[in-house]
Amino acid sequence: MHTDALSLPDGTQLDGDLCIVGAGAAGIALAMEFVGTATRVLLLEGGGFDLEGPMQALYRGEVVGRPYYPLDATRLHYFGGTTGHWGGFCAPLDPIDFTTRAWVPHSGWPITRAQLDPFYARAHPLLDLGPFDYRSAFWEQQDPRRERLPLDRTVLEEKVWQFSAPTRFGSKFRRALVDAPNVHLYTHANVVSVVANESARAIDAVQVRQFDGRTLRVRATQFVLACSTMQNVRLLLASNDLATTGLGNAHDQVGRYFAEHLEMPAGTAVLTRPQSMQHYAYDFGVTKARAELRLTDAQQQARGVLNATVAVEPAPESGEARSTFEAESPEDVELYRRATKDSLTADMKSTEQVYDAERVRAKPFFTLMTRQEQAPNPNSRITLSSERDALGVPRVRFDWQLTALDKHSMRTLYSSVGREFGRLGIGRVQLRDWLLSDDLTWPSLVSGGWHDTGATRMHQDPKQGVVDADCRVHGLGNLYLAGAGVFPTAGSANPTLTLVALALRLADRLKG
Ligand SMILES: Cc1cc2nc3c(=O)[nH]c(=O)nc-3n(C[C@H](O)[C@H](O)[C@H](O)COP(=O)(O)OP(=O)(O)OC[C@H]3O[C@@H](n4cnc5c(N)ncnc54)[C@H](O)[C@@H]3O)c2cc1C
Repeated sequence: MHTDALSLPDGTQLDGDLCIVGAGAAGIALAMEFVGTATRVLLLEGGGFDLEGPMQALYRGEVVGRPYYPLDATRLHYFGGTTGHWGGFCAPLDPIDFTTRAWVPHSGWPITRAQLDPFYARAHPLLDLGPFDYRSAFWEQQDPRRERLPLDRTVLEEKVWQFSAPTRFGSKFRRALVDAPNVHLYTHANVVSVVANESARAIDAVQVRQFDGRTLRVRATQFVLACSTMQNVRLLLASNDLATTGLGNAHDQVGRYFAEHLEMPAGTAVLTRPQSMQHYAYDFGVTKARAELRLTDAQQQARGVLNATVAVEPAPESGEARSTFEAESPEDVELYRRATKDSLTADMKSTEQVYDAERVRAKPFFTLMTRQEQAPNPNSRITLSSERDALGVPRVRFDWQLTALDKHSMRTLYSSVGREFGRLGIGRVQLRDWLLSDDLTWPSLVSGGWHDTGATRMHQDPKQGVVDADCRVHGLGNLYLAGAGVFPTAGSANPTLTLVALALRLADRLKG
């Protein structure tokens, strides 16, 4: 069933068993699990079926820490959520991501990768992914053209990624949800506050408000906030009538430990056998999978670094990555000559000239692109701004912060890749200057992957996290969170596969 909440009179009250706030990747995956059950689901979506300017403007916020993208441009506020423009890169988190790593303060999930595996497998068809198999050997067998680099696999190994269509949740699941007799989808139903009972130990209702001031009250037995990381934080902090510091925030944890993925080019490679990178390149037509390079778990531990991968991507025909590469020795020049054969530009006719110029301009160049987790940092945080949106809700004040461990980890990975390519004689890697410097210098815009994780993290101790291992908000009997906000650490993998798997796991818990 579907109702446009704009058609409802002021003061309407809705009742159900399960109220899900937000119809993006997490909210839709959760709601789909209840289709055809006896549970009366109320799915409240703030936006309509299409993007609308005033609705999107509700996402505006203050950026006070590291420069970041405009907050109303990253996440999408309509049915289907941010899957309306996501890229579809998917991989599960690695087993090590769930463990407590002595060299990564505040690391460790209260659940293991093995516990999440059945839900990853169930999430795959929702995201239109291939088999739930991320072993490099499995994907090599699918395509005989693929070959593996002869790496020292005690140091570096492959991490496989798969690519979703990318599936747009709004288009894919709209019909099934609207036709479901036990699911009632309300569009234009922006929740502005979560109303706790008198003891502030459970939720009675959520309140929806329209731009013209009309309100709805929605009651249910169980509530799930699935509004995206920043919106979930905002709603918890803004719902401060009874709990003055915000719901679930008795220990000042809501909004802390925000983490992005550092997704940025930080080096360039020139390779003698570019065809050896086939296993590592996109191949949408054949397998929709590719490998990236990561430091083994043992190396991460030995060198005290975070989890990350490096993609070796053919550099575009024009642009910074392929344009220059500095030669540091005659051996380098010889390697470039072999790699580039006849593609030296006209003004660089001989090896000597190239070396004299200490620069070579040639193909094939590759960009080294990182995907790295961010060290959990309580000071990387989301709070509320003094400015309010058109519905009267305080906007987000976003203070994104990085640490020395983030930079140390990226540099360690890149130099390991460089050393390994050099040892094998297959190429040379050049790091960006800012990565070589010892200080905390970063480029002016450190690009994140548009992945909001953390800020409502999972921890069994209410003093160290916001939700428990079942994604239930500490201290509140019937309020749950869905989305990447519950990740204590985010690994190197993009978040959507994991947050959908967690939503399916939550569905099982709620049914139980
Ligand atoms: C450009 C871009 C590329 C990306 N590429 C990838 C990728 O390749 N791989 C990957 O894994 N991830 C990627 N992501 C991230 C991915 O889009 C998110 O992880 C995912 O969409 C988050 O799901 P969600 O359900 O938590 O939030 P969303 O998908 O944002 O959904 C939240 C929903 O809640 C609704 N809502 C918000 N507030 C309220 C309210 N107060 N009341 C009612 N409803 C509300 C919103 O309208 C929305 O429908 C990308 C993101 C961006 C921006």
